Amino acid sequence: KTRVYRFGNKTADGNSKMKNLLGGKGANLAEMSAIGIPVPPGFTITTEVCTEYNDLGKDTVVDLIKEEVEQSIANIEDQMGTTFGDKENPLLISVRSGARVSMPGMMDTVLNLGLNDEVVQGLAKRTNNEQFAWDSYRRFIQMYGGVVLGMKPESKDDIDPFEEIMEHLKHKRGIELDTEFTVQDLKDLVYDFKDAVKKRTGQEFPTDPWDQLWGAIIAVFNSWNGNRAVYYRNMHGYPADWGTAVNVQAMVYGNMGDNSGTGVCFTRDAGTGENVFNGEYLINAQGEDVVAGVRTPQQITKLGSQRWAQLATIDEKDRFENYPSLEELMPAIFKELNGYQDTLEKHYRDMQDMEFTIQDGKLWILQTRNGKRTGAAMVKIAMDLLKEGMINEKEALLLIEPNKLDELLHPVFEPKALKSATIIAQGLPASPGAATGKIVFFADEANKYKNSILVRIETSPEDLEGMNIAKGILTARGGMTSHAAVVARGMGKCCISGAGALKINYKTRTLTVNGHEYHEGDWISLNGSTGNIIEGKVATMEPELSGEFAELMELTDKYAEMKVRTNADTPKDARIARNFGAQGIGLTRTEHMFFEVDRIKAMREMILADTVKGRKQALEELLPMQRSDFEGIFEAMDGLSVTIRLLDPPLHEFVPHQLATQKELADEMHISLQAVKNKVAELEEFNPMLGHRGCRLGNTYPEITEMQTRAIIEAALNLKERGIICKPEIMVPLVGTVKEFEAQEQIIRATANTIFEERNDTIDYLVGTMIEVPRAALVADLIAEKADFFSFGTNDLTQMTFGYSRDDASKFLPIYIEKGILKVDPFEVLDQEGVGQLVKIGTERGRSIKPNLKVGICGEHGGEPSSVEFCYNTGMDYVSCSPYRVPIARLVSAQAAI
Ligand code: PEP
Ligand code: MG
Repeated sequence: KTRVYRFGNKTADGNSKMKNLLGGKGANLAEMSAIGIPVPPGFTITTEVCTEYNDLGKDTVVDLIKEEVEQSIANIEDQMGTTFGDKENPLLISVRSGARVSMPGMMDTVLNLGLNDEVVQGLAKRTNNEQFAWDSYRRFIQMYGGVVLGMKPESKDDIDPFEEIMEHLKHKRGIELDTEFTVQDLKDLVYDFKDAVKKRTGQEFPTDPWDQLWGAIIAVFNSWNGNRAVYYRNMHGYPADWGTAVNVQAMVYGNMGDNSGTGVCFTRDAGTGENVFNGEYLINAQGEDVVAGVRTPQQITKLGSQRWAQLATIDEKDRFENYPSLEELMPAIFKELNGYQDTLEKHYRDMQDMEFTIQDGKLWILQTRNGKRTGAAMVKIAMDLLKEGMINEKEALLLIEPNKLDELLHPVFEPKALKSATIIAQGLPASPGAATGKIVFFADEANKYKNSILVRIETSPEDLEGMNIAKGILTARGGMTSHAAVVARGMGKCCISGAGALKINYKTRTLTVNGHEYHEGDWISLNGSTGNIIEGKVATMEPELSGEFAELMELTDKYAEMKVRTNADTPKDARIARNFGAQGIGLTRTEHMFFEVDRIKAMREMILADTVKGRKQALEELLPMQRSDFEGIFEAMDGLSVTIRLLDPPLHEFVPHQLATQKELADEMHISLQAVKNKVAELEEFNPMLGHRGCRLGNTYPEITEMQTRAIIEAALNLKERGIICKPEIMVPLVGTVKEFEAQEQIIRATANTIFEERNDTIDYLVGTMIEVPRAALVADLIAEKADFFSFGTNDLTQMTFGYSRDDASKFLPIYIEKGILKVDPFEVLDQEGVGQLVKIGTERGRSIKPNLKVGICGEHGGEPSSVEFCYNTGMDYVSCSPYRVPIARLVSAQAAI
């Protein structure tokens, strides 16, 4: 049985398929080496040995692998031309953990192993850098001491024993930074560190490199059962008998003079996706110097340097002129590196992000991984790789991260402008995009400035127009399905909600956050994708929907089985969604139409009417308006199904709550102010979300349902005359019992029949229901006897299943998430475990009666990737989401079907 697998010299005992045995890291190192990439040589002790160690103990296991380890070290020495423990030309090694799955930071690592008082001289000589050699030695003792010898803080509020010694010396020397230590300081530290080890453990710090190595190997095995790792494993359900592998590898140094260096490179442009090799490097430096930003790194390619020079300002020009690219400075090394980047990209069939080091004129590749990229680059790279024949269509689709598509669909901040931005607070990333503008506190003042940001404690339907005008919306209260969030997503407008740190004072028109006060007219910027609220003006730019984006979307249609509809309340939204590929409308919330200035009046008259006659009169006024809305929507969706939902919200949302507006209304209606006040008070509910709303309205005021049905059917007939194909689906909200549905259905069918007679013409239409009350899901078989279709309203279904108020949940949800009581916001990501059961039960019971029952979802979850996948697995015919989420849902629908 082989317990130790070697890699290096462009060969390897293992390969990438052996992750269970070699761990992720070990398998990848083997794979790279096997395909001819020069990785620093080393070996992997298998995960099985970790299990053997746990069963048999240290001595037995050391006996089992001693010979293999010794031979493998000799093998590394051969390849590197250095010797372990040598004082002239020492081999130094790293010892790292590596389980079959990545467990970032959960287990231990030791670097620079093999150093002692003599070997450090050799390192100093080889790097011609005493400072570096002693600093490496100091770090080694610190790491080894912590990981292997247990030199950790003694209690939670203690500081690290080594840090304490360093702080003490800094204080004595009057310096602040680690980099200010002199060689003598570092030597003193090494001495003091070893002394501390002796005092605390009663043993000398091991000077023999072999003792160091065995200590480190055993410590890595132990770290598999360390607190952090066990916690992480339990969290993810990884079994204890997986074990970790141990990777031992030669250290290479990029700071051995002018013939050495280190850098990072990408096989393609991570910002744009363009197929150009690029990256940065530094001569005579260590890996961390490139990222630390102390020295300005140079470009890898000549082209990169030229591009950089074009961007550079005048006084930066010398950076370009005085610092040549690697291509110019070390042409042979560059050529070699260029070859490897090509090999690696073709091998892994994705854009690679690589780290390399040049030690004394020899190139080593330390690491490669699939590179992080922007949304735009992600799409371009996937489509380019497809065209280049490197991947097939399914693989191209799977390379796309659904949520990242969002970046392409909304304005973004200019990356340069963002660098100097100050973040003043954070809220929920309710609707993505970037917005910058002047603060206004009232919706009807949104047009006061050319660019405004509407800042509210929370928004209400009355604010709709102002929300549309403002560039972005910021609220102190409300969650991911608050009014502001839902409406903003629908509009594709940037919105941050529930930013609890904001103190908003409408009277003084001020916004206070962390002691800073901002006034109306002050510039503020919102990043709706991260929830960051930024001080001042930050330049934004419009996204470009590239040709590749359209190609990608076309590809989704080829594989998607489940359809994607949109939630749209206006012809404009419907058109936007159709441009994004929506295949119909899954939800039109009719109430949103009533909030426009001229309509709200008629609506209020209807609500305030005391008699059926009075109500009917007011509804007469609303009919033509609503009919023309529907005509616009049907026209935009020519040929596609359009689901229109009957009035849903509690009526008190429509009546004026401010004295001035109440007075206005009283005057207009020629009634007393007191009468208006009484009515408003009468409509007040303790729990409006569970009150007089949904089909309970239509069943108590049937004339509302009559009017809306008439508007829908007449609009459809009007368009039919013009040759436009309408497929209306009338949807009853908030049904809990089959009788509730039946009562509404009767009114709808009767009204439609009357119109058909009046017009001597007919049109096909469906009458279905939302499933958003838990009871409805449970009696779905009864409801399916009557309903033509189901649409899951998972916003209300989540609200009622959890018993969390949609409008108040932002008070406790963030804390729940922080404490780990909930993993995610269930209003954002469908709770498959609980709410999902109701969705499944509802679908199954419905289809047990009507096997072909059309089933969809129109809650906000319809555009969230994991929820969309769930809907596909549940067998839904479609999901419906905000217009700007349509491309994401289309992609996930395709990915789920692959
Ligand atoms: C729902 O409850 O999921 C739904 C779509 O309706 P609304 O958000 O309008 O209550
Ligand atoms: Mg609802």
